[in-house]
Amino acid sequence: MYRSVYTILISLLLGTSGSSGQGSLPVSSRPSVTRVVLLGTGTPNADPDASGPAVAIVVNDTPYIIDSGPGVVRRAAAAHRNGVAGLAVSRLRRLFITHLHSDHTAGYPDFMLTPAVLERNAPLLVFGPPGLQRMTDHLRKAYAEDLEIRLHGLEPKMPDGPKGYEVKVREVGQGLVYRDENVTVTAFQVIHGSWKHALGYRFVTPDRTIVISGDCRPTPAIIEECDGCDVLIHEVYSESGFARRPPEWQRYHSSFHTSTRELASIATKARPGLLILYHQLLWGTAPEEMLREIAQGYDGRVVFGRDLDIY
Ligand SMILES: [Zn+2]
Ligand SMILES: [Zn+2]
Repeated sequence: MYRSVYTILISLLLGTSGSSGQGSLPVSSRPSVTRVVLLGTGTPNADPDASGPAVAIVVNDTPYIIDSGPGVVRRAAAAHRNGVAGLAVSRLRRLFITHLHSDHTAGYPDFMLTPAVLERNAPLLVFGPPGLQRMTDHLRKAYAEDLEIRLHGLEPKMPDGPKGYEVKVREVGQGLVYRDENVTVTAFQVIHGSWKHALGYRFVTPDRTIVISGDCRPTPAIIEECDGCDVLIHEVYSESGFARRPPEWQRYHSSFHTSTRELASIATKARPGLLILYHQLLWGTAPEEMLREIAQGYDGRVVFGRDLDIY
């Protein structure tokens, strides 16, 4: 009696349903400590409703950000305002870049500088493919005048110094990239047209495994990396929209990106608990139609991701 009342009380307090009757909650009904927040689901298209590509994985209020598309810092601030405590701008300290295309990195200087102005008190750690260090050095040089004024001008300083302005870059390839008490992050190569280095990432947290494709055409490694993962976040373009594109663009898209038909086949083999479509290229196709295109070849759970969605 005591035990079942206790279980129900805990369920109510935690917002979970169901009762195991064993005095502890089964894993499936425990509230997730990991949250996936879509900060930007867009592409190079300057869609005001879909910011540049950026995804936050928040574990125990610590954010891990994948990609830094334009708008990333403002979107983090919006998610914070919506109640995600871990996305306070001063907490943006860990960034994982998939590849160096501008739509994934145009927010990088913002990610370096704005949280530092807003009292980030530790260096920024950035992981990504070869070329990232050079990009970082160039951006630091581009903002040399600003850094000079902020670090040596009248602006009040953090008590323990200007650590928030430091950027530590680690160029990575396949394999283990990062580990702490919340996450183990591994990277894998994906096929993205003529890019020599393009990465996907796999995050293992205490309660979830999340795989993010980055930009790619169909890549078998994604099936192996997910292999029944909880969440697969995958880029996609609409097959019906593609049919309306000029031949020279069709050549480009099909060697750089993944169609709805191709993604349905990948997801069928990868078996994620949830498939999130992001970096969607629609070319006039409605989101509902894109979901129908996927459903023709895939019967699992799938959502069309939108900015500031939380999963
Ligand atoms: Zn892209
Ligand atoms: Zn790309």
